[in-house]
Amino acid sequence: MQALSEVNLSTQLRNAMNDLAFDKLTPIQEKSYPVILSGEDVVGIAQTGTGKTFAYLLPILKELKFSNQVNPRVLVLVPTRELVVQIVEQVKLLTKYMSTRVLGVYGGTNIKTQAQEVGQGADIIIATPGRLYDLVLSRALQLKAISKLVIDEVDVMLDLGFRFQLKNIFELLPARRQNIMFSATMTNEVDLLIQDYFDAPTQISIAVSGTPLENIEQSCYSVVNFNTKTNLLAHLLHGTEEYEKVLVFIANKKSADVLFEFLENEFGSRVGIIHSNKTQNYRLRSIEDFENGTTRILVATDVIARGLDIEAISHVINFDVPQYPENYMHRIGRTGRAEQAGKTILFYTEKELTRKESIEALMELQIPMMDLPAEVEISAVLTAEERPHIKEKYGNHKLAQTSEPGTSFHEKKEKNKRTNLGGAYKREITSKYKKAQHKRGNKGGKKR
Ligand code: UDP
Ligand code: MG
Repeated sequence: MQALSEVNLSTQLRNAMNDLAFDKLTPIQEKSYPVILSGEDVVGIAQTGTGKTFAYLLPILKELKFSNQVNPRVLVLVPTRELVVQIVEQVKLLTKYMSTRVLGVYGGTNIKTQAQEVGQGADIIIATPGRLYDLVLSRALQLKAISKLVIDEVDVMLDLGFRFQLKNIFELLPARRQNIMFSATMTNEVDLLIQDYFDAPTQISIAVSGTPLENIEQSCYSVVNFNTKTNLLAHLLHGTEEYEKVLVFIANKKSADVLFEFLENEFGSRVGIIHSNKTQNYRLRSIEDFENGTTRILVATDVIARGLDIEAISHVINFDVPQYPENYMHRIGRTGRAEQAGKTILFYTEKELTRKESIEALMELQIPMMDLPAEVEISAVLTAEERPHIKEKYGNHKLAQTSEPGTSFHEKKEKNKRTNLGGAYKREITSKYKKAQHKRGNKGGKKR
């Protein structure tokens, strides 16, 4: 790694890096710095937690001249609102000794307030694509001065929901601009986008897409069903090993709510939850509480699988196996950041075995298996989704009443024992159908 003193930085940036106690560049930062400075298009790949944010921010900020023009010159697109907030904070840290105007724009907040802020002028805009596009359409924001475009987490940005928004935004940007994209994983879809919109980009990669970090210790358990998974989770979290700061990923909002209630019963108020049905304030508070240790366990959907840099997460538990193997890499990458040690555990059912195998194929390694501890009760109670498939009788007009607020996990368990599959069960099935149409949204839906 290159010592900071050898890097051709401005005094202001150097001082800011010193304040952050960063005295050298990470490998991706070292390789990207001269290439981005040269003005070429760049595609950068490096594993999770290896400093990709500063890899693009340092050269961009070094180049950015003082200006008081209203229209922004740098645009950074990211997939989630929380990531906007985090990157704005990082820009602020780096520009402590500069007068750079940075602004984050994202959905779930008042668009009028944001339009006013944009109207005050900014040098750098960090944005989720949907809100950015809305601001442009309402003429609150003009993109004609953008000379540098960064797409962070680019592969997830190409998923359904984002692709069209991205293309719309591309059409509005000046043709003469520098394009920069970064991620820990790459897909073939990214190549297509690059062919269409990039100008012979330089590829910088520190590790092949899908290379796991060695500082993350991985393991997995074969578990028969959802309720046995909750028993195992409780057993582990009550156990002797230090589960200091545990992030639990689960596939969808509804299961997240169920698991959250269960964990709240077990562990009280030190459990938090985040998913896309929560208000933006709630989402940000959940992250903050987890970051500062108010909560010890955070139940999350893939909405925060990407990019978030939360300090010292000791364990990432995959309560289920993500549909796309890349998402596993991103989920587990919330721990083991900046070369720290981290642990990750995967629970999989027989049905999820093929997904686990695709993850292992992507990483080119087998995740070590653990035996289910004898104390863990094997539950025979199946959830609605685990029961044999039943044909839907009613049309979609019942979709509005999908949630049952206040049902505790234990009540649910009781209810699942019943054989009458009317009422709530039918509604659950209906909502499952609704979800099926947006399957890929799990990896990168509009709402993120
Ligand atoms: N970091 C670092 N040196 C730097 C910049 C960042 O050690 O010059 C740390 C930073 O504090 C963070 C971690 O590296 O905890 C990961 O940074 P980032 O979120 O940029 O990683 P990415 O997942 O984007 O590669
Ligand atoms: Mg990142």
